[in-house]
Amino acid sequence: MRLNDITRGTGLEEHGITNANLIYWTPPTAVLYEQIVKRSEGLVTHQGAVAVKTGHYTGRAANEKFIVDEPSCHEHVNWGKVNRPFDPEKFDGLYKRLLAYMHGKDLFVQDCFAGASRAHRLPVRVIAEKAWHSLFARNMFVRATTDELVSLKPEFTVIDMPNFHAIPAMDGTNTETFIIVNFARKVILIGGTSYAGEIKKSIFTILNYLLPHHKKVLSMHCSANAGEKGDVAIFFGLSGTGKTTLSADPRRALIGDDEHGWDDAGVFNFEGGCYAKIINLSRESEPEIYETTRKFGTILENVAIDTLSRRIDLDDDSFTEDTRASYPITHIPRIVKSGIGAHPNNVIMLTCDAFGVLPPIARLTPEQAMYHFLSGYTAKVAGTEAGITEPQAAFSTCFGAPFMALHPSVYAQLLNEKIARHNVNCWLVNTGWSGGGYGVGSRMKIAYSRALVNAAIDGTLAAGEFRKEEFFGLMIPTACPGVPAEVLDPLNVWADKPNYKETAKALVDMFRKNFEQYGGSVSDEVAKVL
Ligand code: ATP
Ligand code: MN
Repeated sequence: MRLNDITRGTGLEEHGITNANLIYWTPPTAVLYEQIVKRSEGLVTHQGAVAVKTGHYTGRAANEKFIVDEPSCHEHVNWGKVNRPFDPEKFDGLYKRLLAYMHGKDLFVQDCFAGASRAHRLPVRVIAEKAWHSLFARNMFVRATTDELVSLKPEFTVIDMPNFHAIPAMDGTNTETFIIVNFARKVILIGGTSYAGEIKKSIFTILNYLLPHHKKVLSMHCSANAGEKGDVAIFFGLSGTGKTTLSADPRRALIGDDEHGWDDAGVFNFEGGCYAKIINLSRESEPEIYETTRKFGTILENVAIDTLSRRIDLDDDSFTEDTRASYPITHIPRIVKSGIGAHPNNVIMLTCDAFGVLPPIARLTPEQAMYHFLSGYTAKVAGTEAGITEPQAAFSTCFGAPFMALHPSVYAQLLNEKIARHNVNCWLVNTGWSGGGYGVGSRMKIAYSRALVNAAIDGTLAAGEFRKEEFFGLMIPTACPGVPAEVLDPLNVWADKPNYKETAKALVDMFRKNFEQYGGSVSDEVAKVL
């Protein structure tokens, strides 16, 4: 292909962009590599991945995300701290300033889809200032075929200009940084941050609005995989709980690692790529993900690189703890190519309980499943500052509050119906601490979490015995192949038993207090779970 075939100066007039210099049209990975290097955006690593830094922001700028408050969405959006309203006129003003900013610039356009399902996919255009952000979009979304590209009309457009900084007094933003969704104009504006994850998570936000609202399709912050017989399992969980890690399993085919829809036919991936946490990545525990860090096309974010040898150090956290790899799902050896699977037989809710209270696995009644879905519990370890060793509970409804544009009850009701209709087994899996909380116990071995998940999925656990635990009323299996029996009951592995009981009671209280907000919107059975 000649360079001329993919660069032009025109074609973005419908967005008001009339004076760009070069426009790269859905450039392939190799062209983006060349441009990343030419523009000094990143370095090619010794085995072929590309290393970049995201700059000031190494994670999402949660406080800078807005939704334009206009008539089409006003009544439906769950306004609050997550979905902050933005003034429509301010939006138009900011858009004009962005258009001026783009004059004379080279722009990278990726036309692609969000959603593997033909019935529900959303054609998306990402117009990016940086070549590596364009590669990110290419990796993360569903690629269009050459034929599809000819006729692809974007339904939603992301204008991603990290080097443009807003002036809050003029633009109506909080800071120089902004991520603004406009449902009426079908545009998302991003500025002031080079964290590429904003691109995928803002599209996830609009799918979380459009799919349940218009089509009664459940959108979920979960990973999914399928067994040899096509049996599907989905894994809900907040960041760092193991969605990506546990869904990449040598015995099962990966459907997707982060975002899925569930319609009348089954589940489908929203994405075409994965975004794995790679700090201290172990070749032994996570071989599939480890291999992706050496492949052409993979973007390594904020990973330390030796500028002489171009070797990377996955254990180096000097830029951030949250180092990431973005890669097309085809970099994983066993995948479901279509991105589509059957109705799940198993729903697994992952939590990383740093208090070490919750059992490594428990079977949930449908009511408990609703309770835990609405609670969306995980814990954050306080980190190493100033000798803080106490973990902090974090409740994020639907295991993804920052991305849920509608009221949580909309998602909960859809999930509830589907669990009942398809007779789904539900499980709670604690990938966090065991034998004591953070600072005393240790994190659950990945091998144990995998063994537990597999025994749940293949029916081994359901065929065995369970015992009811006294604090949360959870049903704990008494045995699981590949996992020492004593680990299954958290009380067993705590040396300080009275302390376990105190900690468990305190956690139950935190759950109850958090759940007060849902009291009115759930059935009595669900409200009575704890
Ligand atoms: P995000 O939504 O941010 O993508 P995620 O749910 O996909 O988060 P993972 O990327 O799977 O989270 O991160 C889990 C992290 O925890 C990985 O770094 C993994 O190595 C580590 N880990 C340690 N012990 C376990 C365990 N028992 N199960 C799963 N992951 C574990
Ligand atoms: Mn993940």
